[in-house]
Amino acid sequence: MKKHNFSAGPCILPQEVLQKASQAVLNFNNLDLSLIEISHRSADFVDVMEKARALVLELLGLENQGYTALFLQGGASMEFLMTPYNLMKQGGSAAYLDTGAWSNKALKEAKLFGEVNIVASSKDKNYSYIPKGYTIPKDANYFHCTSNNTIYGTQLKSFPKTEGLLVCDMSSDIFSRNLDFSQFDLIYAGAQKNMGPAGTTLVVVKEDILGKTGRDIPSMLDYQVHISKDSMFNTPPVFAVYVSMLTLQWLKDLGGLDAIEKINNEKAALLYNEIDQNPLFEGTAAKEDRSNMNVTFLLTDTSKKEKFDKLCKEAGINGINGHRSVGGYRASIYNAMPIESVQVLVNKMQEL
Ligand SMILES: *Cc1c(COP(=O)(O)O)cnc(C)c1O
Repeated sequence: MKKHNFSAGPCILPQEVLQKASQAVLNFNNLDLSLIEISHRSADFVDVMEKARALVLELLGLENQGYTALFLQGGASMEFLMTPYNLMKQGGSAAYLDTGAWSNKALKEAKLFGEVNIVASSKDKNYSYIPKGYTIPKDANYFHCTSNNTIYGTQLKSFPKTEGLLVCDMSSDIFSRNLDFSQFDLIYAGAQKNMGPAGTTLVVVKEDILGKTGRDIPSMLDYQVHISKDSMFNTPPVFAVYVSMLTLQWLKDLGGLDAIEKINNEKAALLYNEIDQNPLFEGTAAKEDRSNMNVTFLLTDTSKKEKFDKLCKEAGINGINGHRSVGGYRASIYNAMPIESVQVLVNKMQEL
């Protein structure tokens, strides 16, 4: 039997997606060829890319609003650099919200391009909450935030209004809830948290914000180049794009973002209720900022660690060790995680 996979990333994908993907590796579209050995310029693969890009905009409610979806490479980490390259003006500045390790890596790259203003930080309490009530400088070319902090288990529940552009790293909660996505000018996400396998990064960008920096941008780092080539400027990561397309189709068939948000809320409530009621556990994130994707918690009595780990292992629970900077446990309950698996974890917490 398959394990209950709480891995933070690469993470769980729907079983039916894994089955279809396996089949396509052997024989894609009855071509008697593998998905990963045909030309990316063939009609069969171009169709995959176009479907995946269209599904992204459809699920986010961004069709016909001037947005483009791209499947790029280099991970979300490459977007830390592409964002300032494409959006920060020569001699300009950007504003960043510091909510953890990923925000820090993003703003470190931005500093290579101009002035970076850290508008607020929750570093004082090991990133266990989301700062609020900050002001974004009017002249910032863009404001950058991380919607879900994979390591610390915090999540932004709302986003500030800004005069400049709004940029968001949604790697670990994209497609997990419905938002007004038109408030964002650029969204990016590494696929391997909630959309597909490692190897591709989703970028959703409003086209009219580009080409305004006065910089010369190398082709591979220029969003406009990728847009003009329909996300096929160079050989795309065909397998990762295909599996992402299957996962997006699975999500659409399930009822889209409203449907998955409801399920995700139920899963998170089940686990957080246990954490709050069971005296052996405590959550690490401020209650109002708790993530519905990465649930971080500690044992109140660490002498019980061995016993709890053993119970989890016997139950087939995989991947709940916390990140080293928080310790304790982290249960990642991404879209494809069934509530039954969360219940298994809750049962073991009760048994302890
Ligand atoms: C995992 C993660 C990243 C890094 O993604 P890569 O694809 O490995 O570069 C960036 N931001 C967030 C929020 C993440 O969870």
